[in-house]
Amino acid sequence: VTDMATAARALLDADLSRGELKRRAADLDKDLALRQSLVAEARRRGVELPEDATFWPSKVLLRRARDREAVAHVVGTPTHRDERFSCVVCGLDVPEHGRTARDHCPRCLSGLHVDVIPGDRASDCGGVLRAVGADGAGGRWRIRYRCDRCGSERWNQALLDGDVPDDWSRICAIAAGGT
Ligand SMILES: [Zn+2]
Ligand SMILES: [Zn+2]
Repeated sequence: VTDMATAARALLDADLSRGELKRRAADLDKDLALRQSLVAEARRRGVELPEDATFWPSKVLLRRARDREAVAHVVGTPTHRDERFSCVVCGLDVPEHGRTARDHCPRCLSGLHVDVIPGDRASDCGGVLRAVGADGAGGRWRIRYRCDRCGSERWNQALLDGDVPDDWSRICAIAAGGT
């Protein structure tokens, strides 16, 4: 057992106040090796973390790695059923939609490359789908995605209804060519 693993376990187990958590995160931002140990240790405990978790802001990484609920739920994967999930990109706790299953986060609009055909969960790529464009032709808004792992592109329907609809200003921004 290395000192690094011990330090990572301490970070996962310690009862930390918000302020302490913030300070630890600031330290962690400067320590790649410790972030790697933290990711490894959290995964060993059953928390699902994607490849790029090591490069998340430490505050986000710490919160996710320490989330005991995350061990029980599958985290970070928008599901084919209408159920809540945690966004792997921005950390938003995304509630059920109510009408249909979501395939992307309503706040940052990111999704995961898990489908070959929408909804089939047949791709094992698992890369993050970044919103790179949007189009409202015919009054049906769609979001253009590019996978940051395999580079494939696809369109997904925007979800503008429900209690937590897609962030409209962000859709407008990417439609206008921003990000
Ligand atoms: Zn998000
Ligand atoms: Zn992909």
